Amino acid sequence: MDTGTLEAMRTTLRGPVIGPQDAEYDRTRQVYNAMIDRHPAAFVSCADAADVMAAVTFIRDNGLELAVRGGGHSGPGLCLVDDGVTIDLSPMAGVRVDPVARTAQVGGGSHLGDLDHATHAFGLATPTGIISMTGVGGLTLGGGHGYLTRRYGLTADNMLSADVVLADGSFVTASEAEHPDLLWALRGGGGNFGIVTSFTYRLHPVDTVGVAITVWPVDRTRDVLTWYREFLPQAPDDVYGFFALFAIPPGPPFPEEIHGQKMCGVVWCHTGDLDHFEEAFTSVREPGPRPSTSRNRCPTPRCRACSTS
Ligand SMILES: Cc1cc2nc3c(=O)[nH]c(=O)nc-3n(C[C@H](O)[C@H](O)[C@H](O)COP(=O)(O)OP(=O)(O)OC[C@H]3O[C@@H](n4cnc5c(N)ncnc54)[C@H](O)[C@@H]3O)c2cc1C
Repeated sequence: MDTGTLEAMRTTLRGPVIGPQDAEYDRTRQVYNAMIDRHPAAFVSCADAADVMAAVTFIRDNGLELAVRGGGHSGPGLCLVDDGVTIDLSPMAGVRVDPVARTAQVGGGSHLGDLDHATHAFGLATPTGIISMTGVGGLTLGGGHGYLTRRYGLTADNMLSADVVLADGSFVTASEAEHPDLLWALRGGGGNFGIVTSFTYRLHPVDTVGVAITVWPVDRTRDVLTWYREFLPQAPDDVYGFFALFAIPPGPPFPEEIHGQKMCGVVWCHTGDLDHFEEAFTSVREPGPRPSTSRNRCPTPRCRACSTS
């Protein structure tokens, strides 16, 4: 992008515009996945919906490529485009809770942790993902599932309305009453239908939850996954389990003898009555996953992932 275009963008927008010559450029282009190494021509940090509308119009009029950054957490780094412009929504983070209506209005650049922090004070929550640094934008528009999903549905199911800047730079609110077709499309359509500057979510009463982690040696992964697939559908909706492969961190709650070891495991969340917490997990601890039967063996001949089993 020539300096004239960059300067013109700076005068058009309220938020800062960062180009390759700026000191913060390399820090700004870092995303969650450190394998991603893209070089946008510019980052536009939008201060508000007006900035997003102006940025979209400017980018389109200048024939540039466009990407949108919510939390910057997507694995393939979808928020960065080589030689194009990234519209960065991070200045547009913030949450307003209405505890009477049980709704939260959430800025398009907010993280899951912002939402949880704001709603927890009121004994309320909406289902989101498992990592607090994920953006509400990418997660909601992709569906969104996490600890509360078995009880309260996907994040997208709990999206009541969205303020959206469309490709022509215009602004609409999508809800069941206005533009319901757009609301439907946003529920899983990713970033393809417009830039969401604000989400409104339905909240549910959630106060104290029970959590647990169960881990097994990594060579039991097949058994654990086979068991997990059978256990979860018949468990009460209060129970959610997130399967993971990880190296055990060197600290509590993990016993010292397994620190640093590669394990597989399930991170559990129990949203029901805490008096029933132990009971809900009895069958997880005893007998737990059994060795898989030959019926469940991998059908792929000479599968490299299974070569050790
Ligand atoms: C370690 C890890 C754990 C994860 N855990 C979960 C999980 O528990 N549950 C789950 O459901 N998903 C999970 N995900 C997937 C995650 O939800 C998606 O990668 C999501 O797209 C990240 O959103 P983001 O806004 O942070 O990412 P970004 O990279 O900023 O954006 C991702 C995509 O969404 C678009 N987008 C973002 N914000 C907006 C907006 N406001 N308006 C329009 N488009 C927007 C972007 O343009 C881009 O196409 C996980 C991912 C990782 C890497």
